[in-house]
Amino acid sequence: MDCEQFRLACKYGKQYIEHHIKGRLHPANHRNALSGRYAGGPVPWGYVVDYDRHSATYKRFLRYEPHATLVVHHVFERFAAMVRPSVMELTRVWEREGRAWPFFGPEVDERRKRVLGQALTRSDGANGYRFHYRQAQHILTNVAYLGWCVHRGEVAWDYERSAPLICHEALVGSDLFWWCYDLVAGERPPWAPPRVSAQTTYYRPHHSRRASPDEVWFLTPGRVRCVTHGSRYSASKEATGSVRLECPSYDRQTGETAYLCPVIAVAPVEAKLIDAFRAELRLDARDVAHLAQIAQRRQGQRAAATSLVQQELAKQRLLLERAKRRALQVDDDGMAAEFLDEARRARQRIRELEAQTAQADAKSAFGADALRQAERAETLSRRIWETFPDWPRAAQSRVLSLALNHAVIGPVHRHALGFYIQWQGGSVSRREMVRTLGQHVRWSADEEEAIRRYYDVLTWSALLAMLPFRSRESIETFARHRGIVRRRGRGVERVSTPPLVVSRSPIENAMRAYGFPLAASGEPHPAMAMSGLVSSRW
Ligand SMILES: [Zn+2]
Repeated sequence: MDCEQFRLACKYGKQYIEHHIKGRLHPANHRNALSGRYAGGPVPWGYVVDYDRHSATYKRFLRYEPHATLVVHHVFERFAAMVRPSVMELTRVWEREGRAWPFFGPEVDERRKRVLGQALTRSDGANGYRFHYRQAQHILTNVAYLGWCVHRGEVAWDYERSAPLICHEALVGSDLFWWCYDLVAGERPPWAPPRVSAQTTYYRPHHSRRASPDEVWFLTPGRVRCVTHGSRYSASKEATGSVRLECPSYDRQTGETAYLCPVIAVAPVEAKLIDAFRAELRLDARDVAHLAQIAQRRQGQRAAATSLVQQELAKQRLLLERAKRRALQVDDDGMAAEFLDEARRARQRIRELEAQTAQADAKSAFGADALRQAERAETLSRRIWETFPDWPRAAQSRVLSLALNHAVIGPVHRHALGFYIQWQGGSVSRREMVRTLGQHVRWSADEEEAIRRYYDVLTWSALLAMLPFRSRESIETFARHRGIVRRRGRGVERVSTPPLVVSRSPIENAMRAYGFPLAASGEPHPAMAMSGLVSSRW
């Protein structure tokens, strides 16, 4: 019997939950949330809920001062200011600087503190609630800081503005917010504004914990790829303190190609990069006009203004038509005259409006404001052009990482590397880098065999003819390393014709697809040939 009663109670319980909670309370709660009111759950840092029933902002978020400032300056702005923005590093920064959320004061409602009391460690000696990794992630991706309200994946919508409803005070600007959001979260929700930058992945190179977070080994980590393997060149620091770029595909390098991917010192690459970037900064009148157009579009002023004029125009045309029609329909002369007068006025107004639009179109394609903005951008870019090489590396790195889409490095011939740079927005730079030492080409088994058999048998000219792509120095070095000896002295008879030729193809131009070699540089750099670094047999 008890069993039966229990089952019945369970059944009622289930019905109650389904009907009352799920069917009535939840939708009500959802509606409430979508009108911008607090509907329970965690309150974002920097806000408190207004629990005063008589207040105009009842059940809405209010800015809570000591925390709000921290959210703005020490979460969003600090994150954006990092050379390599990282949520984990942000947490460490707070820890290092001894920062924490100050405890809530007595004026704050108990309900706000109660939620926190369970969730946060309030360690003794601490000056506040601890900041941790998850919090940082939540804050950097929470649209509540834009003043928006999201409940169960749906955003409170303002149908008049056809944009998310502003439910409370925003703490950060939308540019800063979405910049951080894109780095932390993979994808934007469907109701968010679409991404404008093409940057989809943000590469974070492995970074030693001991190294300072602001130390920059290479200006654009992760953006330069090896042309042969497509892998990202990684920067590594030598014991001497110099930094080199290496292709990480060691296995494929030894297995598939006759030469190893070039290992490049960072300095010349960066010099070319900065040079190419500065070349991009020179703006002409057409660029300025283009910038003004962009500024105009962002303001949306002109569109709004002209559409108002157009609306007015359409209205007046309608009036004119109607007045003319009426004047024809009525018999009374007085009335007809009145309508005709009305028509005349409408025609007059139409003429005015048409002149106005024509004038607006002719005078300038964009408003003075947009033009001023574009000119300011031009001045700015000129100033960057002048001072960029002297900027601190951290700042250079941030700017270049924003400007650079991707880059490719690969050998053009033994003594030159091609550097292909694709900027955001589509323009392209090409630079060639001269190598002090020629590209190393590994010795094949055939070559080794030939050296073993004939090193002691042939004259030097015969040896060089046998191995047309090797210099005397490299043959000597190779033989010494392998312990192959060549006897000295008059008693040695040597043959002067090579018994065979072991030819290897020279380094192929791996950068052909990227438009290399550049004009008039198919050969070794003249400076190199003169300095004697290049043997005739390169
Ligand atoms: Zn490679």
